[in-house]
Amino acid sequence: MTRLDDGLLAALLERGVSRRSFLKFSAAMASVLALPASYAPRIAAAVAAAPRLPVIWLRGQDCAGNTAAFLRATRPTVAELVLDVLSVDYHQTIMAPAGAAADLSRTTTMEQHPNAYLAIVEGAIPTADGGVHCTIGGRPFRDIVREVCDGALATIAVGSCAFDGGTPAAGGGPTGAVGVRGVVPGGRLITLPGCPLNVENLTATIVHYLTFKELPPTDGRGRPLFAYGGLIHNQCERRAHYEFGEYVLTWGDEGAQKGWCLYKMGCKGPEAFANCPTVRFGEGTSWTVKAGHGCVGCTMPGFWDAMTPAYRRLPPPLPIMPTVSVDTVGQALVGGVAALTVVHGSASVVRSRLNRVTERRRAARAAAEPVAMPAAVAEVAAPAAVAEGAAPAAVAEGAAPAAVVEPAEGADRSGAAGSSGAADSSGAAGSSGPEVS
Ligand code: SF4
Repeated sequence: MTRLDDGLLAALLERGVSRRSFLKFSAAMASVLALPASYAPRIAAAVAAAPRLPVIWLRGQDCAGNTAAFLRATRPTVAELVLDVLSVDYHQTIMAPAGAAADLSRTTTMEQHPNAYLAIVEGAIPTADGGVHCTIGGRPFRDIVREVCDGALATIAVGSCAFDGGTPAAGGGPTGAVGVRGVVPGGRLITLPGCPLNVENLTATIVHYLTFKELPPTDGRGRPLFAYGGLIHNQCERRAHYEFGEYVLTWGDEGAQKGWCLYKMGCKGPEAFANCPTVRFGEGTSWTVKAGHGCVGCTMPGFWDAMTPAYRRLPPPLPIMPTVSVDTVGQALVGGVAALTVVHGSASVVRSRLNRVTERRRAARAAAEPVAMPAAVAEVAAPAAVAEGAAPAAVAEGAAPAAVVEPAEGADRSGAAGSSGAADSSGAAGSSGPEVS
């Protein structure tokens, strides 16, 4: 195992960070990464021996909120020092060089560390009109992002704007703003949405890479599962009030003072995924709901459009499935009925066509093959058998068919004639004859 005095730990010890603090930091990172505490020594060893990782931090259409989160980690924290000892070779906001010298810092890092530096992108990337809505050194930001990310070990998109366009893309903004995935499809991309991101998640992502030499597992949008795999509502400290129907109804009311659930004030916690309630902000001191405001769902795709107005209450969830709203179920049912209708209609059309084809084939066969008439039928049907105008033999003899013989007078017409034993004078309607109805 690597000695803890090597590499990064030596730098931290020089900065006055105690060994004890470092081990506490390692345990905290294991917790953020949702790993068992037994991983802490492994994390400590890996991080302690890690060489400085070159970083190029790009900023496009944004408010610098993620840079502020990065810089405002409370001093002194080990997490901040870990980020300090990264070699942040290029950061438009905080670097000393300017102009051509700044560009040179970026290109030099790329040349000296091919596929070995970390690209961090903050802000949306405009694509409309050739990308002219955001340029750096006269070049579209879009082209710089492609260039830097293509040669990077991995890319981390920080904040909601770099995630999917964020504010500049809201309401179909005019600049054609997209997230990093919109201009660098594929590749090794981690996204850390939030407005701003929780810097603990950035630290944990880097620590994961240093420890396991691979990026953390993510969902389909590149969000690490350790940070975005759980519903906020399920981790919230006010959840018990939700279950008991104890809600804040107006700002400052009794419920607000008692820390009741903010669902009726528009909290989006039931539909947002993030670890805000457990990791919190400001060294774990607080987060939005703890501070008394509902979650705004800023980690979710297109949240400026999909999660607003911020104070509009979400549709009520189903009692048996608290994470599924009645609207969602209704939409699913309507979709299911529509799909069944389409299937039924298609099947009817196919069946009708098949029937028509079968009918046509039958008709064609009937026309092509002469029908062989059975001999007995032919005899009966032969006009020669019955002379024209001649009555059938039975009729000619005047004998009435047994079935139409009228019962004898006095016989029961109710159908009991046979059973009563009343005999027909002709003997045709006796008990053994057919019942007359
Ligand atoms: Fe917490 Fe909001 Fe869920 Fe209420 S609705 S329990 S405040 S996340």
